[in-house]
Amino acid sequence: MNVRSDRPKGKKPPLTLATELTFLKGAGPAVAMKLKPLGLERVGDLLLHLPTRYEDRRRILPIAEVRNGEEALVCGRVVSTEVRFGAKRWLRVVIDDGRSSMVLRFFHFNEVQKAALVENRWVRAFGTGRITPNGAEMVHPEYRVADSAAELPPEDRLTPIYGLTTGITQTRVRALIQQALAVAQADPDFTADFPGLGGPATLAALRTLHEPDGRDLGDLLLDRHPAQIRLVREELLAHQLCMRLLRKQTKAAPGARIEAVLAATAQLQGRLPFVMTGAQRRVIGDIAHDLSAGKPMLRLIQGDVGSGKTVVAAAAMLGCAQVGLQSVLMAPTELLVEQHARTLAAWLNPLRVEVGLLLGKMKKSERDEALRRAASGEVKVWVGTHALFQGDMAFKRLAMIVVDEQHRFGVGQRLALRDKGPAGVTPHQLIMSATPIPRTLAQTIYADLDVSVIDELPPGRTPVQTVVVSNERRHDVLLRIGEACRQGRQAYWVCTLIEENSELQAQAAEETYRQLREELPELRVGLVHGRLKPAEKEAQMRAFQSGATQLLVATTVIEVGVDVPNASIMIIDNAERLGLSQLHQLRGRVGRGATASQCLLMYQGPLGEGSKARLEVMRTTTDGFVIAQKDLELRGPGELLGRRQTGLIGLKIADPVRDSALIPPLQKLADDWWLKTPKEARRMIARWIGDAERYAQV
Ligand code: ADP
Ligand code: MG
Repeated sequence: MNVRSDRPKGKKPPLTLATELTFLKGAGPAVAMKLKPLGLERVGDLLLHLPTRYEDRRRILPIAEVRNGEEALVCGRVVSTEVRFGAKRWLRVVIDDGRSSMVLRFFHFNEVQKAALVENRWVRAFGTGRITPNGAEMVHPEYRVADSAAELPPEDRLTPIYGLTTGITQTRVRALIQQALAVAQADPDFTADFPGLGGPATLAALRTLHEPDGRDLGDLLLDRHPAQIRLVREELLAHQLCMRLLRKQTKAAPGARIEAVLAATAQLQGRLPFVMTGAQRRVIGDIAHDLSAGKPMLRLIQGDVGSGKTVVAAAAMLGCAQVGLQSVLMAPTELLVEQHARTLAAWLNPLRVEVGLLLGKMKKSERDEALRRAASGEVKVWVGTHALFQGDMAFKRLAMIVVDEQHRFGVGQRLALRDKGPAGVTPHQLIMSATPIPRTLAQTIYADLDVSVIDELPPGRTPVQTVVVSNERRHDVLLRIGEACRQGRQAYWVCTLIEENSELQAQAAEETYRQLREELPELRVGLVHGRLKPAEKEAQMRAFQSGATQLLVATTVIEVGVDVPNASIMIIDNAERLGLSQLHQLRGRVGRGATASQCLLMYQGPLGEGSKARLEVMRTTTDGFVIAQKDLELRGPGELLGRRQTGLIGLKIADPVRDSALIPPLQKLADDWWLKTPKEARRMIARWIGDAERYAQV
């Protein structure tokens, strides 16, 4: 492998697990840049980048036995190599193993590759076989070239396959991981085992996974090899240790002592058009207790969609404002922020409390004014998007941070916000989760938080009736909406696209909007999507809220939190494309008033098994906790949390649902370790989480 000359110059430091991986052979800056999105920056990161699967290249298959669609390792002599010109330029290499021949096709190739694949050399290729009328072939196999077959023996171990980004080959990653394993081997800190954990020691376990021999193959593929279990337990333990450390450090800092929450709640109640539920009062009681303790609050509020979390936050924020302290409410979308600002203003302005707003898209002059009013402390209650924690925002006396819809905020973002308090005081944290999650999962993800549950819906709600209908009955659906709107009801029409691309989503919504206006000419139709200007979006929402529009065509931007009680029908187009939690969130937009509401899940058949199961769950229950549990069963937690969102918990190999039985004993072990062997505890955190120490310093 060639050594890049453009890597940092100067004396080479001794390699450790903390060294940047550019110091490894074969990892220049270009490679490092491609590895970064995988979370691979240091030598130690490579160790924990485990294979996603294994391939068996331990036997060379005669070409004659290659089967269509199956992976195979073949070896043959090159009989011809030529560049062909079809729709695209491609390289055609024919190899022969003495009995039959096979075509290898390469659509991406360079001159070096072409020059190596010359007649009479030998090629060992691994790929998926295809049987065509013209014989066997492989497209883009992984291959090696040598001058004789003897130099290309089959592997004696299983071949690990890693998750990659484009531009990085398996071979390259394997070579880097081999170097990382050697560095770990030489690190006494890494080879010293932790007592009492059971199973193979860490390094031995990692070797088993990175360089598996043929034994225990079945267990390995089923994720229940002792080496895997050992690593999973280590990771879960590290996570528990880290969360405990964060909590301990936060709780050790002083927090503003606020004793005004219960009195504020009574005042707020006097202004509300409804009576708070017992559950809301109980949760406010928990918060009042936390805020008066003189230590930073760390509390999670779990409550199903529509359970009334906003008023709970409002009571706490009012309590802060009344003793001259500031608080902020953060929400994931501008739409939701604007709505929260309106709601809070309606409740708090009559109590002479002003509400400040901070959006990413604000004009410079507006933003400067908001910054000034936050820094001077004159506005106590703030609502905003992530713009709230961008560099220049400073608060005079920030005492509490409320995070709405937590699943979109990572731990890192929460910690950044914590920084915004005045020196020496750690703000209280109130996290409101919209997605109910099963208990075991909550224990893993929110191990550092106290939990309150709003387990009661406001009275007078009639459960939403859910119907699953095929696209083919669109005409009936239209008749039904027309009829309902004539009776004074309002409806959402939600357009879905698989792509996250907001441009395409907006286009789809505009198209539906145009079509629906033609099909239902007597209705007043509105449109809201992520590409509208904030002012337009706001105008559209206002029009719908006031009843000026009857049917609102929307993308999934309305998924979180939007509140229009008179809307009692929702149509979700292509509902089969959405996951359960997203469907539940969407459906939560209706069923908020006294009218019995309907949700029509329209699908484009034929339905796959998974989609069928999801729609059936939606049809039969409206309980968010039941849906969350089903979601886990049907999809697995990786998808539930979004693998990309694991920044939230940062688990690399453990799976909080699959491994839930392992968690309770580890919680106890984590307590023991902090008590008896704090040094080991820190070592374990450093090994698995690394950054935790930095987080913990915040
Ligand atoms: P979520 O928990 O989903 O954030 P919201 O705070 O948006 O729920 O509340 C949903 C709706 O229920 C809002 O219109 C809110 O004003 C109303 N609401 C909240 N609490 C009560 C209550 N105790 N009685 C009646 N309506 C309530
Ligand atoms: Mg809400």
